[in-house]
Formats: sequence, C-alpha cells, structure tokens
Amino acid sequence: MSMDQGTTSSRTIIFDREGGIVAKAQKEITQYYPAEDRVEHDPYEILASQISSAKEAMSMAGLTCADICGIGVTNQRETTVVWDSKTGDPVYPAIVWQDRRTAGYCSRLTAEKGDGYFREKTGLIADPYFSASKIAWILDNVPDAREDAEAGKLLFGTVDSWLIWKLTGGARHVTDYSNAARTLLFDIAALDWDSELLALFGIPKSMMPEVVPSSGIVGETAEGIFGGRIKIAGIAGDQQASLFGLCCFGEGDAKITYGTGCFMLMNTGHRVLRSSGGLISTIAWSDGKDVTYALEGSVFIGGAVVQWLRDEVRFFDEAAESEGFAESVADTNGVYMVPAFTGLGAPYWDANARGAVFGLTRGARREHLIRAALESIAYQNNDLIEAMRNDSGLPISSLKADGGASENNFLMQFQADISEAQVERGRLVETTALGAAYLAGLAVSYWNGKDDIVASR
Ligand code: ADP
Repeated sequence: MSMDQGTTSSRTIIFDREGGIVAKAQKEITQYYPAEDRVEHDPYEILASQISSAKEAMSMAGLTCADICGIGVTNQRETTVVWDSKTGDPVYPAIVWQDRRTAGYCSRLTAEKGDGYFREKTGLIADPYFSASKIAWILDNVPDAREDAEAGKLLFGTVDSWLIWKLTGGARHVTDYSNAARTLLFDIAALDWDSELLALFGIPKSMMPEVVPSSGIVGETAEGIFGGRIKIAGIAGDQQASLFGLCCFGEGDAKITYGTGCFMLMNTGHRVLRSSGGLISTIAWSDGKDVTYALEGSVFIGGAVVQWLRDEVRFFDEAAESEGFAESVADTNGVYMVPAFTGLGAPYWDANARGAVFGLTRGARREHLIRAALESIAYQNNDLIEAMRNDSGLPISSLKADGGASENNFLMQFQADISEAQVERGRLVETTALGAAYLAGLAVSYWNGKDDIVASR
C-alpha cells in the first residue's frame, strides 16, 4: 500500500504483484497563501487526509490490514514540520517547499559562505526551497520555539517523518536518506547530519530524525488506526520514488517527470557526482547496504505553462487540447516563450527572472503561442539534459517520462527530436506511488529483488 502525500493531495494506492492498481483513493488538501511569498499546509490535514484515503482504498477493495504486506510512504519533499514531542502538536503550519519567505536569509548565507560550501557537504545550494532555512524561520519566529528546541522538546521532520511519527503513535522519529538529502543539513558523502550546518542554521541536533534506509521495516502502524498493525517498510521523496517506480535502477538511467514543474533525475550509481553546470547532487535511495546517488535538475514551470494558457489566457478548456493546436501548425512562426513565472530553476537559479514571449509578428496566432509554450517545456528540459551530459560524460540516449504533461504526444516527440534521445513514456501514470510500493515490497519480500520487480511488470 503506497501513501503518496503530494503538494495538492494525499493519495493511497494499493498495488498487486504485477504493479497493477487494486484500489486508489485521493483527498485534496488546502493550500494556504498567508502572504505573497508564503505557502503553508495544515499538518493535521495532511495526516487526516492521508489516513482517510488509506481507509477508503482498503474498504473499496474489501481489504483488512492482514491483507496489506507493507506500507510505502512517498511525499512532497522539503516541506517542513516542527512539532512538540510531548503533545504531538505542530508549533506552526507546515512550510511548503514552494515558500520563498527565507530568500533574503539564504542570499546572505550564500554571500557569507559561498555556493561551494553548501554544495560540497550537501550537494545542494542555499535556496529557500530546502528545509534548513524553513526550520530556522520557525525557531526564530514562533514564541518560545527556540527555547523549547534547545531543551529537546521539539522535533523536526519532512512530511514522511511527520506521517510516520503519527502513524506509529510517536514510536518512530525517522526519515530516509532521500528525504534527509533535501534538508541542506545532511552530509551526503558522510551520510550523517552535519554539525557545522546545524550550528550555522541554529538547529539543535536533538530535533533531527534518525535516518533510515529507503527500503526497510521501520515500525508498525499503531493499534486503532487501521484496525491492526501494518508494517511501514519503504520511504522516499516523490521524485526519487518516481525514479525507482520507472525502474531506473542502473547508473545512467534517467527520467523526467512532467508535472506542474519538471524534475529530471539521473541515477549516478554509488558515487556522488558533483555538478559544474547548476544541477544538484542528491541521494536516490538506500537499501540498507548501499546508497545510490542521483543528479537532479528542476524546472519550476513545466505543465503549469499549459495551465496558465488554459486558466489565465483562456486559449482552451482542457490541457489536452494543447496537443491538437500545436500540431495544426508547422512551427511557431518564430515565437519563443520563456515561462519563468516564478524565476528560473536549474541550471540558472535566477529567482528574479520573469516570463517573456519573443518573436511576435502580425502573423503570430494562438496556435503558434500554444506550440511555443509546449516547446518551452522541452527547451527547459533540454538545458537539464545537456547539463547532465556535461557533468556525467554519459550520452543519455534514452530517458523515461511520467507525469500529467507526458500524456502530450507532441511534447514527447519534440523533446525526443531536440534532445536527440529516445523518450519512453511509463505505461502507468502513478509511477511515484508505485516506486514507494516497490521499496516497501522489497523490504517485506513481496518482491525478491529488483530483477523480480522488472520481471513482474
Ligand atoms: P502535479 O503532480 O505536479 O500536480 P501532474 O503530473 O498531475 O502534476 O500534471 C499536471 C500538469 O500537467 C498540469 O500543469 C497540466 O497543465 C499539465 N497537463 C496535463 N495534461 C496535459 C496535456 N495533455 N498536455 C500538456 N500538459 C498537460
């Protein structure tokens, strides 16, 4: 049973041995925008929606907890929860990965320490995207939080930690390597929390969860939640879970998820590959014996540019219509779009960039603009592919694709053409959830190794 706690919804999907969906349930969660640069979630809503979707999926399929071999948790990454270990209550709403309130703080740290300092230890850059500055903000701004944290009363977790702490009745305060690698506090080579970074951000080590393998039994759900105990056996951040779900098990295997944003990850095997081209290094997963690393690039506006054409520009009613419009013209007639609505992510990291359309002439039509928008998604990803080729020295002649916008045939073909790579769409859209199910299923011997997974598909 896969619990997929995403930015906009909590989903539970129950898979069979062939990776087929037995049951699926989903609950939306509320987005709070308390200020222009802030995005928050209610941690209790995250928990309640996740549990209720799991109960609904189980009852839809007529299953009891005895039928579930194990739970895999996958989650929106970096989102930060701080809670009181005695009362179990959060001291502040969850600060979501998109939240930019700590932008000034992060620029000051970068100016003081230099990019290389953070990259060397964590594989990341000092950006508000990652958890550390969000924790620091909570400790600095919530009354008594710093004192309580220093007295060992507060715990930090990304969403996986929060869910598992609650699901195990407070018995387990853990996170996995893939999530730890997103905090800006974890040394990805030494595989431990970094005391210098903890001191720099003013975060007591006692707040930090124990880091456990992505595939391995970490505990059981408390009595009373699902009418019996279920083993929690897999954890991974959503993009890493998608890499696993797409079976990118070998060094050099790469995927792009075409969602709201686009996320490209490439398996770099057991070595940390440090980017010289604006990508980040991260942990893909660990099976308890070895750690597998990845190179990652994120594009902030991917499928969202199609959403913008639909909802704001109102060129069409359904995102899928963009394909027909784009294919009805031979080219963009010289029109280019840069959808930097919220700045540019990798490899540029320019928080102040904004969107632009170039090359307009009197002949420019709606179809050209739509085609230019779809092409802009592929061009941004191509920048990531090129950076990955340069960093790794690998040709990247094929890659896997998933996510909502990967349904678009024009986009997939255009990507393949400009990137000179074979783009292979996953047979199933729910690869993120499937990846978490695989990680859990391996730990409880539902599948006997990666070969068994590949053979079972
Ligand atoms: P997320 O998980 O980030 O919410 P999804 O994987 O569900 O995103 O993908 C949704 C995004 O994909 C939306 O931004 C939507 O505009 C875009 N999208 C969905 N279908 C298509 C399509 N056929 N062509 C282009 N874009 C699409």
